This record gives sequence, structure tokens and C-alpha cells, in this order.
Amino acid sequence: MYPTPLGALGEKRSATRPFPGTSTPPPTSPLPFFELMYENKSMATIDRQTPTLALAHALAAAEHGLPVFPLSATKLPALRSPHRGEQPSAHCRGECGLPGHGVHDATTDPAALRALFAAAPRATGYGIACGRAPHRLIGIDLDVDPAYRSDSAGALRQLALQHLFTIPPTVTVLTPSGGRHLWLTGPADATVPNSAGRLAPGIDIRGSGGYLVGPGSVTAHGRYRLAPGTARLTPAPCPRALLRLLTLPRRTPTAAAAGTTHTQARRGEGLIQFVLAAHEGQRNTRLFWAACRAYEHGFGDALADALTAAAVRTGLPEHEARATIASAARLTSGRGGETDGAA
Ligand SMILES: [Zn+2]
Repeated sequence: MYPTPLGALGEKRSATRPFPGTSTPPPTSPLPFFELMYENKSMATIDRQTPTLALAHALAAAEHGLPVFPLSATKLPALRSPHRGEQPSAHCRGECGLPGHGVHDATTDPAALRALFAAAPRATGYGIACGRAPHRLIGIDLDVDPAYRSDSAGALRQLALQHLFTIPPTVTVLTPSGGRHLWLTGPADATVPNSAGRLAPGIDIRGSGGYLVGPGSVTAHGRYRLAPGTARLTPAPCPRALLRLLTLPRRTPTAAAAGTTHTQARRGEGLIQFVLAAHEGQRNTRLFWAACRAYEHGFGDALADALTAAAVRTGLPEHEARATIASAARLTSGRGGETDGAA
């Protein structure tokens, strides 16, 4: 099924309607002069027209089947919770029937959407709820935060090489800070959790219960817009190998790592992730390498069960995993210091 030849994709997609926030201006669009002003992020302004434009973009997105709701200039839901100040705090997700439940307000119904925006006159943008039918959107948020000192797009390419998938051409939104959001769709039988920096540094995932700032939205830092050339695409299906990475059970510091130092627990977590990311043909060498590192750093025995569990999850039989870890223990016993780590 993947990858689909690019030519075929392009052909099929050119027939679809353009996505919102594109070159097709809504009727209330400002003059091109203002459009140019929006391109310059230092001049992105919020004026009287901004809420109207935000609604127009949101309506266009809803027309494409994307559930949307109003956002403020801080990228937070524009409507305040009707439960604020309540003790104990309510766990209402909109069951009360009132607006103000963030992503749970999201709707594709134009009348309901107009009502939400009417209640939020200071909205400057809109959020798109991820994980909801029919598209079940998954947002790959590639950050450019210099704090990461690494290139998130490069990290994604690295993952793609390592796990043998290609990112298909898809709707891409440019953020005011220079980042980008890739829009992918998920299957009905998978729930993708939200995560920050779990896949790789600088890569956040917007999944079920999360939202993406829609193209055309204006925030305090500037405008979100569609990347040139992606406006006419429809969101592409998430490659299966990537979906597997996105739906791996979340690992909390393992019970097996209890009694180890914080640094060891973190290192152990990294080694477990390394084993989990193995595909067929790499499972044993990865497990062996990880186990050697754990024993070299003095927490091999503490991590052995968690490593075994991780290896079993990648499809390695348990007795094989145990044998691999045991040989790593033998190899590293009585040997201090680090090896070069080559497996
Ligand atoms: Zn409520």
C-alpha cells in the first residue's frame, strides 16, 4: 500500500478542492497589500478584520470535514471554561452542553461554528481537532527551537531511513517561528497519543485529544499558512512504520529500573527505546548492544527484565532475548570502562 507512486498521488489529488488558508481568498479577504504584510512576521497584525477572517478560514476547514473551534492569539482556546473556579474541578468534556471545553468544542457544523465564534469575538484563529473522523488527523510538529540544537526535519529523515518509510507529499502548514506541521491521517483502529519530543528531539505529535493551529490563523507571533505547493493536497495516510512508532505504548520509568540512579533510569529508558525501535534483522544485535551498555554502566541486572520485555515486543522469543542478555553479561563481566559500542 505504501509508498504510492508520487505521480499517481499528484494526479488524484489535483482534483480535490484546495485546503483552507490557501491562494483562494475567502470573500472577506483583505487586499493583497495586507496579505504581503502578513508574510512578514514582524508586521503580522491583529486588527478588526482578524476574527472575521479566522471564522472564514475555520468554516473552510470545517467544509473539508475538519472539526474546528476558535483560538485566541495565544493559541489557546478562545472560549473560557464554564467550569472555571469550580471545586472540585469538573471533568466535563462538554456534556453540560455549554461551550468552553477547548478541543471538545470542535465541530464541522457551520451554524455551531458561527455560534462559537460569536461567543468568542476576540478569536484570531482556529484549532483543528486531531484524531477525529473522517480524517483522523495526526500532526507531525517539526520545531525549530534552537534550544534543541538539532534539526527536527533531519531527525525525521533519520527515522524514516532507519525504519524504512517515506513521508508522502501532504498538507504542510508553516508556523510563524519557522517550524512546520505535516498533516497525516490515521486508520480507524489506531489511537495516536500526543507526545512532545518522544519520537525525536524537536518533534511533537498531535494525536487524539490534541489540536493543530489551522492555516490562516493569526497569533501573537504571526500567521500560520500553508506551505507553497501543498494547498491542493489532501492529508496523506500515515506510513505504517511511522504509525507503529507513534502508537508504541508509552514507557514510564520501569519498575525494573527502580533502585537505579536518575541518570541510569534515563539511560535505561534510552536503551529500551533503542531495542523497541528495532525491526526484523536488527533485533538481536540491538538487544545485545543495549544489554552490553547497561552492564558496562552497572545496571545490567536491573534492566534485564525491561530489555527482555522490549525485545519480546519487537517479536524476539523470550528465551532468545534472555540468552542474548546473558551473553552480554558474560562478555562485559570483569571489564571496566566503556567499549566503542559497535555491535
Ligand atoms: Zn461542561
